[in-house]
Amino acid sequence: MLIVQKFGGSSVANKERILNVANRIVEEYKKGNDVVVVLSAQGDTTDLLIEKALDINPKPSKRELDMLLSTGEQQSVALMSMAIHKLGYPSVSLNANQVKIESSGIYGNARIKNIATSRIKLELEKRNIVIITGFQGINNFGDITTLGRGGSDTTAVALAASLNAQLCEIYTDVDGIYTADPRIIKNACKLEEISYDEMLELASLGAKVLHNRSVELAKKYNVKLVVRSSLTVAKGTLVREESKVEKMLVSGLALDKDVSRITVVGIKDMPGMAFKVFSLLAKENIVADIIIQSVGSMRLKDISFTIKRTDLENTLYILEKNKDFLGHDSVNYDSSVVKLSVVGAGIASNPSIAAKMFEALYDVGTNIRMISTSEIKISVLIDAGDSERAAQSVHDKLMEENINLNL
Ligand code: ASP
Ligand code: MG
Repeated sequence: MLIVQKFGGSSVANKERILNVANRIVEEYKKGNDVVVVLSAQGDTTDLLIEKALDINPKPSKRELDMLLSTGEQQSVALMSMAIHKLGYPSVSLNANQVKIESSGIYGNARIKNIATSRIKLELEKRNIVIITGFQGINNFGDITTLGRGGSDTTAVALAASLNAQLCEIYTDVDGIYTADPRIIKNACKLEEISYDEMLELASLGAKVLHNRSVELAKKYNVKLVVRSSLTVAKGTLVREESKVEKMLVSGLALDKDVSRITVVGIKDMPGMAFKVFSLLAKENIVADIIIQSVGSMRLKDISFTIKRTDLENTLYILEKNKDFLGHDSVNYDSSVVKLSVVGAGIASNPSIAAKMFEALYDVGTNIRMISTSEIKISVLIDAGDSERAAQSVHDKLMEENINLNL
């Protein structure tokens, strides 16, 4: 059997952790399996490298930044291979150039386009454990790119897909995917399984367990993905196709604090206005999430939407710059808000979930500012000060529903 195992930065943070992981890898290898390992940079190496870069030049060239950041992963793979040799087993470390992990050209946010498998297969035939740098690719110019923060997950899944691996294990410092962040929500529980679609929603809502591109790839190529801890032997969470997933009404709750609400006040109530506003934003790569438009009166209407807080200044600037073009009266905004979302494959077919969520918010006196729903997600915008109380209340109520359904 061919297995891809990915270990995150905390799993290889120091000598003890590296030796612990080396032992786990060897255990798998001793069963007769082919083992391909993907590693992140140790601990907070990537953050430290970014700091170093900014210290020298606050606006570093993206090409040079990728050149620098990719060294973190290269250290990990070399050290891990040495650790495995020390245990008396054969292994070889490879970087993106040696494997030929081809990516698009965008430094800092490249996408994997193709992975050559010949070198890896050759090494596996020699019964080597193959240890590969996560997070990096090679673009058309032969330059090193990186795949975006957390991108090693994506390297692992892409490798599993290219090599037709039977299993892709993502090792981290938590023992699986939880119904909510256990540091914030009491009684958050570990899921045995979750569907690709639910996991995608949670990953893009900021649940940082998996890079969301890795989940997209896993879904596309049907990669059997398991998230588990490198520090315990607990079973972890299986991410797979929906039809096989146990019936859970709601599988997760996420709190996104990186959001601001913007309202464009007094825009003309005529065709094409939303088109104008959102194409201006799209041109600058600004994603509007929850969008609400008031019913027009006196030939005017308001359009409210949420964006990432980091896009706030830019958005205000664009709206101001295009004031004549859009013809609105004014713009107001609020950054003391958070987005609370529940995700579950059962949402579309169970209208009671939305009702229960709103009831739970009412129970703790939380005012809902905006609402949006999809097949598998309900999001509300609420005041930041309410966030933890509201999240706990919603979690308690909906998990109770899950239990009722499963009994
Ligand atoms: N080392 C990179 C980061 O910190 C990639 C990863 O860990 O997946 O973002
Ligand atoms: Mg990660």
